[in-house]
Amino acid sequence: MKRQPFVWLFVASLFAGAPPVAAQSIADQYRDVANQLITAATENHDAYARLTELVDQFGARVSGSVALENAIDWILEEMEADGLDNPRGDPVMVPHWVRGEESLEMVLPRPRTLPMLGLGGSIATPPGGIRAEVLVVSSYDELEARADEAGGRIVLFDVPFTTYGATVQYRAGGAIAAAKVGAVASLVRSVTPNSQQTPHTGNSSYEDGVRKIPHAAITVEDSELIHRMQDRGERVEVLLKMEAETLPDAPSRNVMAEIVGSEFPNEVVVFGGHIDSWDVGQGAMDDAGGVVAAWEAIRLMKKLGLRPRRTIRAVGWTSEENGGPGGPTYASDHADEDHVLAMESDAGTFKPLGFGFTGSDRAFEMITDIATLLDPIGSGTITRGGGGADIGPLMATGVPGMGLNVDGTKYFWYHHTDADTIDKLDPDEVALCVATMAVIAYIVADMPERLPR
Ligand SMILES: [Zn+2]
Repeated sequence: MKRQPFVWLFVASLFAGAPPVAAQSIADQYRDVANQLITAATENHDAYARLTELVDQFGARVSGSVALENAIDWILEEMEADGLDNPRGDPVMVPHWVRGEESLEMVLPRPRTLPMLGLGGSIATPPGGIRAEVLVVSSYDELEARADEAGGRIVLFDVPFTTYGATVQYRAGGAIAAAKVGAVASLVRSVTPNSQQTPHTGNSSYEDGVRKIPHAAITVEDSELIHRMQDRGERVEVLLKMEAETLPDAPSRNVMAEIVGSEFPNEVVVFGGHIDSWDVGQGAMDDAGGVVAAWEAIRLMKKLGLRPRRTIRAVGWTSEENGGPGGPTYASDHADEDHVLAMESDAGTFKPLGFGFTGSDRAFEMITDIATLLDPIGSGTITRGGGGADIGPLMATGVPGMGLNVDGTKYFWYHHTDADTIDKLDPDEVALCVATMAVIAYIVADMPERLPR
């Protein structure tokens, strides 16, 4: 696409009898600095070490928790020690849901303790629990068709994983649909393509005017087991106990630091991930990796003595998982600044492939050119359409947005489970994510021509 001017120049110069004088592409101008950043990011496992320190020290970081705020305090201390500019936490009020004790027992046709996780935002059961017969359905349509059987029962949505978007609607809205047909509680098959008896939590919702009922996830294995029992005509009864409660909103922070631009400090390239997680596992993949990748990227720039023309800011947005107030708060807190590009990593820091990009054709062309510098490490593919929940509010104001694309094979295996721990990530792949984010962020922040809207 960009070739045409060069071809024309070349042809013109043939006629002029002079050697071709082609203008340098952005990639050509920044090849050396890109290679410097890639080498610095991949010659050691510093990013993985920092990520490990973060998640081992603080564990899960659900919004409203002491662990989340302690993690933010630690990040700010470390950012200060790194010598980064303006480490700070912008205040955000966040939802505060706590799980409490919970359990699920199959009583009939035979006793079995079912691994389970209450879903974020769920209410509690009465102290003695809810014991009821289960009605298994495979879809909302089937629930509709069997609505007259649902009264007084616990509805189980046994919906196999297809895509996250298609399957997650049962986790998000299952309690509403089940309550509408008179169910006393609802269960969902965990939203995952691969299970080792691991339940997956996540957010869920209620609807005004619809009775709230407890809502929890069980494993793929048990969901299929109960479904088979029902198909054989067996009566399945379970006892669900949950103490979950929603407390008043709690103070948290969007945590960030930057390298202030040398020429246009008010023009900002912002990138990062979300610092909160669900209350299980370590939130290593979702999404401490995204925060650390951006943070390490600016630390490397600082270490290499690189100060771009525009400001580069690494952010850990808060409470993305629960209610997502961090992104909108950031957008309104920083509305007086001129954001040039927003970039998010929230698909796990697995082997990076490139980015999905949302913006103008001209900007897409420029990013595609810059990304050729990532081809040597396999992460130079730019596709149309990309972003993320936390940068969505900025993108809605016209800021170009991009989301890091990675090998997504395993992401939903561990997503929102006790198994989202540091061992699931590979040190070399995390380093490649740092390199990939660093190259794009630095060049967009430094290139003479501003990335157009
Ligand atoms: Zn996430």
